[in-house]
Amino acid sequence: MSSRTICHFVPPYVQSEVVKNADGAAADSSQKKLADEARKRRADTIAAVDAGGVQGIAPAPTGTSRREVYDSGHTTNQRVTLVRAEGEPETDDADVSNAYDNAGHVRSFYQQVLNRESIDNRFLDLVLNVHFGTGYNNAFWDGDEMTFGDGDGVIFSGFARSLDVVAHELAHGVTQFTSGLIYKNQSGALNEHFSDVFGTAVTQWVNGEHPADADWLIGDEIMGPDLYGEALRSMRHPGTAYDNPILGTDPQPAHYADRYTGSADNGGVHINSGIPNRAFYLAASEIGDTVTTARIWYHALHFLAADSTFAQAADQVATSARVLVKAGSAPKGSAQIVRGAWRAVGVG
Ligand SMILES: [Zn+2]
Repeated sequence: MSSRTICHFVPPYVQSEVVKNADGAAADSSQKKLADEARKRRADTIAAVDAGGVQGIAPAPTGTSRREVYDSGHTTNQRVTLVRAEGEPETDDADVSNAYDNAGHVRSFYQQVLNRESIDNRFLDLVLNVHFGTGYNNAFWDGDEMTFGDGDGVIFSGFARSLDVVAHELAHGVTQFTSGLIYKNQSGALNEHFSDVFGTAVTQWVNGEHPADADWLIGDEIMGPDLYGEALRSMRHPGTAYDNPILGTDPQPAHYADRYTGSADNGGVHINSGIPNRAFYLAASEIGDTVTTARIWYHALHFLAADSTFAQAADQVATSARVLVKAGSAPKGSAQIVRGAWRAVGVG
């Protein structure tokens, strides 16, 4: 299991555009170094947990699902000052409040919709670090906790304020503790994809949205004032989220025939995720319910091998749809809809 993989929210190709185009103001070429340091700091805190517990054995709890928000104080350290623990009153720091509230929404979604107890299904405490670094233009999951930058206030604003960012990062933890999808090539794009699926599903669930009125954008809330109206990804129309001189052009393909086969971005993990993302969007739209569709995807996540391809994921999602239809938790015809959605993006 690649439990020490760091999953950044903003993809490396956007970072390099930002560095190249932002005249130093937003440049943060030391991001990789910061992330590596963070990883080293936390490297020995959590043993990998086998996902077998999900299937009904009651494993020993690893925590109490409590939220702990730490203020990094603009250093690149984690767990610097605990500023709000579970049940403690609100502070006057909006980023702390947002991180706390958003993590609460995500925790509720897993518990109430997916019957999952926190990230590891063993009540893992939710550790969130805010104000990481100075003008840090990213957020990441590093294997056992979430860390959010403030953004530079020009290109990106505070990452913790966005529910889909928090849900996306936390979902990397869920993937780590279930299929352990390797963060490279197609399995890595699936890893990114599942984070976007749960990012949008949590957001739509909290907002009471239906597939037809949701925006299907990921990262729209963190875009700075100059980039208003854009996002980092569109699940509905991959490849159309942005096109501007600062970020460049959204490289996501919407069809398997256009997949990226180069080695950048870990083999295109943030690029090729557009293909399964659109399959999910199509399936949710036809099923008419994003949360139900996310339940199908979540079921499938437990049965995927760590090195799964898109084709294997499509097969498993269809199988999971059949299982949930039989159990009465997805509408009849869901398996056919799901198969059609994958076929529409050139998979299966
Ligand atoms: Zn990610």
